[in-house]
Amino acid sequence: MGRAFGEMLRAVGSEMQREGFVPADDMKRPHWTFRRMYGALGMDELTCESLVLHLDAAHLERHLWCGVDSQAPRVLDELKRQGLLLAVVSNTEDGRLIDSLDASGIRDSFDLLVDSHLVGHRKPDEAIFRFALERLELEADEAAYVGDSYVHDALAAGAIGMRGILLDPLDLHPESVCPRIGSLNELVERVWLRTR
Ligand SMILES: [Mg+2]
Repeated sequence: MGRAFGEMLRAVGSEMQREGFVPADDMKRPHWTFRRMYGALGMDELTCESLVLHLDAAHLERHLWCGVDSQAPRVLDELKRQGLLLAVVSNTEDGRLIDSLDASGIRDSFDLLVDSHLVGHRKPDEAIFRFALERLELEADEAAYVGDSYVHDALAAGAIGMRGILLDPLDLHPESVCPRIGSLNELVERVWLRTR
């Protein structure tokens, strides 16, 4: 599933670069990332539709995006201890970033939460990164952005002068021109975040 999700993200990135970042019609449907992933795994449209209904019901009870990388809590604590400001800049479909972080148990680790649905800009649009920088009173070259999408996270942040770092645990992006880490631990073990 992890590989299928990563490969879906990679394919979406390439597709959007090709299409000039005009989203395809299916990207306006709820849970489109899951639909794409299940489709790529060979699930037929009808089965997928029934599964998405179940996902919807579960999502109302508790945010579905609540899986946390086991290294995340310790890494966030350590980065905070080093004096860094920590923010989330997230594309959401429904403005429920806070619910997601609550369900994940890491909401309190962050100084700023930026939800695309609420601010009206989505990655890879530079406006959402600039919004976060302004709120944190930082220049782009004082900030790093870590994400699992090569195009929407790492390249987009890099394009405005932030240090875009790709989290690529399955080594799906050997072509990457930006710093790439295999695990979150590398954020504290290495010096990626020291931007100047
Ligand atoms: Mg992501």
